[in-house]
Amino acid sequence: MKIPFNKPFLTGNELKYIQEAVLSGKISGDGNFTKKCHQFFEDKYGFKKVLLTTSCTDALEMAAILIDTKPGDEIIIPSYTFVSTANAFVLRGANLVFADSSAIHPNMDPDTIEALITKQTKAIVVVHYAGVACDMDKIKRLADKYSLYVIEDAAQAIDSYYRERPLGSLGHLAAFSFHETKNIISGEGGMLVINDEKFIERAEIIREKGTNRSKFFRGEIDKYNWVDIGSSFLPSDLIAAFLYAQLENIQVIQERRKKSWASYYQGLTELAGTGRVKLPVIPDYATNNAHMFYLVTNTAAEMKGLLEYLKREDILAVFHYLSLHKSPFYLKTGGHYDLPHADHFTDCLVRLPLYFDLTESDQRKVIDTIYKFYT
Ligand SMILES: *Cc1c(COP(=O)(O)O)cnc(C)c1O
Repeated sequence: MKIPFNKPFLTGNELKYIQEAVLSGKISGDGNFTKKCHQFFEDKYGFKKVLLTTSCTDALEMAAILIDTKPGDEIIIPSYTFVSTANAFVLRGANLVFADSSAIHPNMDPDTIEALITKQTKAIVVVHYAGVACDMDKIKRLADKYSLYVIEDAAQAIDSYYRERPLGSLGHLAAFSFHETKNIISGEGGMLVINDEKFIERAEIIREKGTNRSKFFRGEIDKYNWVDIGSSFLPSDLIAAFLYAQLENIQVIQERRKKSWASYYQGLTELAGTGRVKLPVIPDYATNNAHMFYLVTNTAAEMKGLLEYLKREDILAVFHYLSLHKSPFYLKTGGHYDLPHADHFTDCLVRLPLYFDLTESDQRKVIDTIYKFYT
């Protein structure tokens, strides 16, 4: 039996809630289940305002519009990230400025950011890699000093914290993902979190094709009209129904994932002690939401060898981001960066299978196979 890298987990109520939504007669956006999901997030994490979106990518695109990203603006992002962190701002004509990862963690190194700030800088977009917080106090201090926006790409960061504050509550805006590879899923799906009140009204408009339809539905105005740019960023209530079933089980899902994560950590500690691999580092200001278990090999050749060896044993482990500063698209723009730490994680980071239904024996096999490769 093959051990996959990921396997979507169903809590049991997904189909029941979808059926309820269908039978309710309203399955477009902002129906009952969307409202329940919004309430859940605002209650549990104290987010000022949340809006479900069709993806994290869409939530990031909304964030780029909300801060009025314009041609010539510079946006600081890590190079070691998913393309959506970049595309959202490039679509609005911004120039990307890449920060390197820190030496011990894929997250952007906060001590390198100040040197990247110019008069054109508009925002710092942080990515909480593997759900582990960036050093937000340092980043927010810089943002305050230079009057910059902070946007959190919190795609992987559900139910994770920075010094007791939930990730997603720290930037002016934050974006989450419910893609099937994340901890809490709805197939495709996402959410925009709005922590700065001044964005709330416009966010509703942008999400509803540039109209004030949300106000109209609340009875605050008697006609709705085209008032701004926008697109269709809101999901069907069927997606929210699926998501709500997941949210009701967030505790169970998180506990199980953390247990699997801890087993990997414990099982691989001896190997890490020999210096052949490095295990994830969780800084003391951050929590671990067990989104991902990865190890870092010493060389690119070792990573390739390990992935092939695991594959021959029917275990699907995978590498991760190809840093954006070396992407064909970015190189076409003529940019050039030297980011050794991002390069290192591109070359050497290996993600191991981690999902709700991962059995102890399968996990044992993954660990044993890694030891076999190294001996
Ligand atoms: C998954 C992910 C995204 C994209 O999420 P979608 O919901 O698929 O759009 C963006 N950024 C990061 C860091 C991610 O891990």
